[in-house]
Amino acid sequence: MITSAPRFDAELLRRYDRPGPRYTSYPTAPQFTSLYGEAAFRQALSRSNEDPIPRPLSLYSHVPFCFSPCFYCGCNRVITRDKQRAAVYVEHLNQEISRTAPLVDRDREVIQLHFGGGTPNFLEPSQIGEIIRCLFNRFLPSLSAKRDFSIELDPRTIDADGIAELASYGLNRASLGVQDFDPEVQEAINRRQSIEQTESVLQACRQNGMRSINIDLIYGLPKQTEAGFGTTLDRVIEQRPDRLAIYSYAHLPQLFKAQRQIQSEDLPSPDAKLALLGLAIDKLGAAGYRYIGMDHFALPEDELAKAQDNRQLHRNFMGYTTHAQSDLIGFGVSSISHVGKLYSQNQRDLPNWQQALDSGHLPAFRGIELDKDDLLRADLIQQLMCHGEVDIAALEQLHEIRFSHYFAESIERLQPLLDDNLAQLDCNYLRATERGRLLLRNIAMCFDRYLKHEEPRQFSKAI
Ligand code: SF4
Repeated sequence: MITSAPRFDAELLRRYDRPGPRYTSYPTAPQFTSLYGEAAFRQALSRSNEDPIPRPLSLYSHVPFCFSPCFYCGCNRVITRDKQRAAVYVEHLNQEISRTAPLVDRDREVIQLHFGGGTPNFLEPSQIGEIIRCLFNRFLPSLSAKRDFSIELDPRTIDADGIAELASYGLNRASLGVQDFDPEVQEAINRRQSIEQTESVLQACRQNGMRSINIDLIYGLPKQTEAGFGTTLDRVIEQRPDRLAIYSYAHLPQLFKAQRQIQSEDLPSPDAKLALLGLAIDKLGAAGYRYIGMDHFALPEDELAKAQDNRQLHRNFMGYTTHAQSDLIGFGVSSISHVGKLYSQNQRDLPNWQQALDSGHLPAFRGIELDKDDLLRADLIQQLMCHGEVDIAALEQLHEIRFSHYFAESIERLQPLLDDNLAQLDCNYLRATERGRLLLRNIAMCFDRYLKHEEPRQFSKAI
């Protein structure tokens, strides 16, 4: 397993900077079809109860609302200041939970719960408490110290009392959105958030027993400079969050309306953007953070780093997680479930999601059931994303294939990456090198059956 720092090579990164999926699932969401709607989801839930040892559950609740638009945002969210909409949403969410729970055996423990968005704390803490009560009146919460009950927080709209209340409902992890503290960048992205505000939220999370606190930053934003981003990194590192995600800004104004507010001339050049990434890698490495993979860093004592050491790391729609063997059930508009071999997505816009619930249905509307080939490739890509290597013998045995034969075409596609020393392949392992660790998705793309004949324009670039 590779746990050393990734090697930053600007020329190489520039050359391989092409669009590609982030592989929070394989196959990726564009492959989902309406052939797998509500009936398929119900069947998958029912089948998932049949394991002799009950499989644990991960639950996800999506809250789509935000008070104001951040101009870089590519999320599925609804901008509003009307708090009344939150009450209607919670009511529908509770309906969805009540309708789904009877399809799942009661003895299956919930080991992971996550609130994502949008802005989950658009809801009042008491409303989040109401959802958690609704969930745990119907699902069995794990009592393990390892359970992760987490929430994404916008530090601009929560205070210490709110955090204390959230912790009292059992939430024990938080992820804070920051992006950049530079006032000029904040102006250009329409997200004004002071350092003091962010630090006081982070401290309140700690004081209330939350662990594995994460901070999100973005590089490649308008008006971003090395000096400004360097200061942001220094201030964040001073606070010693357990985890950091440093995402690349993907400017796709043709897809995301809010991004049309960003002036192209304010964006850093490709070279300047790469320099920002190099700066983040240097500073985080020097501060003792370990690169986990795909934009994520963690302190070596954090559970994410330990899970990587023990080969227990897993990747799903919530990012990296330590809960590998659970079924994921998503609630709320646009959320995605992964139950057994089925990926299933809820209606993606609010009126359709609500309408499905009002008419007595579950709002699942599209998905995909993984066949044998999908399962094999998903396993391979999962290993690459989480551990930077693939154990070929184990893969051959589990999936009853001969690697070199089955993946002859993929290996051909991989050849230029092997020649560039991004990856190494022998009889035992396919392994990303230190040079290739920042380009994991390029390696994974060689094994993606669905990308073969198309230029994957719908995805963001690798860097
Ligand atoms: S970045 Fe987060 S807070 Fe900002 S608009 Fe998007 S979802 Fe909302």
